[in-house]
Amino acid sequence: MDLWQPIAKHVLFPLQARREGNSVPRHLRELEESQWWPVERLEQMRLERLRALLRHAAAHCPFYTARFAESGFDPERVQSFGDLVGIPLLTKDDIRNHRDEMVATNVPRSQLVPNKTGGSTGQPLHFYMDRERQSSRDAAALRHDRWSGWDIGDPAAYIWGHRTDVTAPESLLSRLRVKYLDRALFLDTSSLDSARMDSFRRRLLHENPPYYVAYANSVYLYAKFLKDTGATEYQRPRAIITSAEMLDPERRALIEEVFGCLVLNRYGSRETSVIASQCEEAQGLHICWETLHLEFLRDEKPVAAGEPGKIVITDLMNYGMPLIRYDIQDVGIPSEAACACGRGLPVMEVSAGRVTDFLLGMEGQIVSGASLTIYLIANAPGVAQAQLVQERRGELVLRVVRGEGFGEATREFFTREIPRYFGDIAWRLDEVDSIAKDPSGKYRFSISHLDPAEVF
Ligand SMILES: [Zn+2]
Repeated sequence: MDLWQPIAKHVLFPLQARREGNSVPRHLRELEESQWWPVERLEQMRLERLRALLRHAAAHCPFYTARFAESGFDPERVQSFGDLVGIPLLTKDDIRNHRDEMVATNVPRSQLVPNKTGGSTGQPLHFYMDRERQSSRDAAALRHDRWSGWDIGDPAAYIWGHRTDVTAPESLLSRLRVKYLDRALFLDTSSLDSARMDSFRRRLLHENPPYYVAYANSVYLYAKFLKDTGATEYQRPRAIITSAEMLDPERRALIEEVFGCLVLNRYGSRETSVIASQCEEAQGLHICWETLHLEFLRDEKPVAAGEPGKIVITDLMNYGMPLIRYDIQDVGIPSEAACACGRGLPVMEVSAGRVTDFLLGMEGQIVSGASLTIYLIANAPGVAQAQLVQERRGELVLRVVRGEGFGEATREFFTREIPRYFGDIAWRLDEVDSIAKDPSGKYRFSISHLDPAEVF
């Protein structure tokens, strides 16, 4: 039994909150309750939060005062979330160009916490949140972490692309916190080879963390390494939370087979923290519905359940710098399914990716490049690795790293399969020696150079 965990949870966690003056424990208590509320009660609270946020933005954020006035939007007349359509989408460029005017004039500078996105697919995006929002974000992440069985004070291993992507502890106290309160073990997977993976294996065996938080592809490669080398002496966690990359069914199955444990997928962002994640039932991803409102759009209109749509987020809690109808450039699939757990938080699917991962067929069909690439790798003979690239409408390049058995049958397979998804598209096969990861260490299955507005 781990004697340290209850001390960390019941003594250090509240003590630290008091020392820092944060309200994480209170937000966590509230979120633990509200996830079980009936939908009507949840919706009522969310609508109150939306109205309050819109009134605040109109009164105290010069950017929104002007934007609402220009578009004839009146926050006082909001009856439902559907009324949000009267507000233009907030783009990343809007944030870059108007950040200071988006900050609320009635929130003291000392209460603003700066943050930025990693910028793996472009320049970093700088933004602010208020201190209270930081607490509710941290609490939301803890609630979703706890769905895996992990609890405050339990050790966890981070199998991550870059250490700096998680947190960058600066003070001695926060370093101590990583060691004794968060109890995290970091494994940098930015360059993976057999020697490095074998050192992971030994280190995990020695430290024995019951939970992993991982890049989906990194933990997949680690699982594949264990399977391919026939390893039997390796550590098996109780649960693995994957995020940051798509987790397709084949990869999930291999991870589950090797570790024999629960694998929970998660979708989050720097701008809003955890957006949605799977609960212990491992079905759809529950949206963090108390604090965020999500729309799924194509051509500015909501898509039907089961259809991919561009994700637009309204953060109901960030008063320091409100994000209202923020076009985050990700794609998700809304769902009407009720999860077996009974939580009132709606679910979504993220078998999707970023808007720039989606390709356009000849008849306007949207093709998930990631899903298709995985399908092609799994089914085309002799393909070690692949990537789809669309530089222009009506054209497609398939980049392939040859594997054993690559040949005429492979080409025939592509000639048959590609038109099934894209129609009569002009495509070509490029044989390459390797496919590079992007600067943050992620492997991109597909890349679209089209303007996302052409696709969504
Ligand atoms: Zn559930």
